[in-house]
Amino acid sequence: MKLLVTFSRKKGREPIIAKVVLETGVLINVERAYIDAMEGEVLIDVPDEDYMRIRDRMTELGAIVSLLEHAIRRDEHECIDCGACVGVCPQEVFSFDEDWKITMRDERCVICGKCLPACPHDALSLVQ
Ligand code: SF4
Ligand code: SF4
Repeated sequence: MKLLVTFSRKKGREPIIAKVVLETGVLINVERAYIDAMEGEVLIDVPDEDYMRIRDRMTELGAIVSLLEHAIRRDEHECIDCGACVGVCPQEVFSFDEDWKITMRDERCVICGKCLPACPHDALSLVQ
């Protein structure tokens, strides 16, 4: 499961993710991270069975944790199956099916945003 973890660094520089990994023994896969002097936003992937434990402990440590079930949305009425999104996505979220229609494995999305400007019909948006 993908979790978006946001935390403030004003309260200190405690390494939340490292601490939770050590405490729980759960291996956390960091898929994307933006961290500056004031705050951090990290997209992590955790095993489904450990999701609640990780979420609760990170919340206790002061982070805001959101579950991302569907990070990217495709408007099927706008999509013309042109395939422009297929080549730009680093995670291979998009592919063609046997009828040359676009299909998505949105669980692979790491919210990099590269596909949004590539779509000529504004059919793609990030789920907030
Ligand atoms: S946001 Fe990035 S990872 Fe997600 S579908 Fe678009 S290009 Fe792929
Ligand atoms: S780039 Fe946009 S219009 Fe083209 S296949 Fe992808 S979502 Fe559909």
